[in-house]
Amino acid sequence: MAKDFYAILGVPKSATEAEIKQAYRKQSKELHPDKHKGDKGKEAKFKEVNEAYEVLSDPKKKESYDRFGSADFNGFGGGGGGGGGFGGFSQGFQGADFNGDLNDLFSSFFNGGGGGGRGRKPDTRGRNVEVEISIPLMDSVKGAERTITFTTQIVCDECAGNGSAHGSKTVTCTECGGTGSVTRTAKSLFGAIRQNVICEICRGSGKVPEKPCKKCGGDGRVSGKKTVNVRIPAGIDDGQTMRLTGDGEAGRQGEKAGDLLVHVRVEADARFERVGDDIRSTLPLPVLDAILGSEADIHTVHGTTKVSIPAGTQPGQVLRLKGKGMPVLNAGRHGDHYVTVDILVPTKLNREERKMFEELRKAAQ
Ligand SMILES: [Zn+2]
Ligand SMILES: [Zn+2]
Repeated sequence: MAKDFYAILGVPKSATEAEIKQAYRKQSKELHPDKHKGDKGKEAKFKEVNEAYEVLSDPKKKESYDRFGSADFNGFGGGGGGGGGFGGFSQGFQGADFNGDLNDLFSSFFNGGGGGGRGRKPDTRGRNVEVEISIPLMDSVKGAERTITFTTQIVCDECAGNGSAHGSKTVTCTECGGTGSVTRTAKSLFGAIRQNVICEICRGSGKVPEKPCKKCGGDGRVSGKKTVNVRIPAGIDDGQTMRLTGDGEAGRQGEKAGDLLVHVRVEADARFERVGDDIRSTLPLPVLDAILGSEADIHTVHGTTKVSIPAGTQPGQVLRLKGKGMPVLNAGRHGDHYVTVDILVPTKLNREERKMFEELRKAAQ
């Protein structure tokens, strides 16, 4: 069954638009993934809250959700949505007074559904571009910069992105008369339905170049290479993604560009293992140092540190170096470094050493 979006946002069914908005703001702030890195439960909750707000903030979707318990009217068959559309719809048939509601019903069909219809912004925005980069662990400790070059649609330098030939103006689109949308008739179970769709000629802007730019044909962009400098913050972990707003594909005719999504891989390091914000490593310790105690140089991601090893240190014992781990992303603090002691037992003894160990054994018996 559909989720209870009101419960998810923590508001009553009678909540006003402002109350819903306020509840959403509060929840999304609290649950924001930036605050709860790696917390899957919070992440799922955050998604739920967004899903709930997407429906409850849209009057049409809200209406259809209130009536049918779902805003997911993607089509007559319900699609792959798992019992979303059609089930809810037939419930409406049985329960509701159908007379006079037909128009509302259709409008909720076409406006509430997966993106079609009223108010949908034409897709003139540039697409997001995704790239993957690989950095050594030490770069994730200190932060790093990388220059990324990729091929995408870039702003046409001939027309500066507006799509008009030099000196030419833009004029009203004749196809849609400047409204940006045209009416199409679609057949459905209930007969013909008129639908507003985005004008394909002006792509919703209502304007076309009087004379299109020769280089880009009026699109305002051309295929080309784009170079972006990426600042990788200290503490970034393997598998995290950075979003560089507006650094993706150029939009059509000067519209908003897409984003650049940089997926970061952090290479394994032979000396250090990252576990959350902590670093783990192994310290090979000569057996006599373990027995008698000593001082050891321990390599951390921040350099070498002298650590005193207490007498009687055991194999597998873990030493904690506070604050010597990974920087915590945007937090100004560090995790810890844990060193596991690995005791080195000599495999070869010279005659003199052997004699001393035997004497030691005798003394201990
Ligand atoms: Zn151009
Ligand atoms: Zn048009």
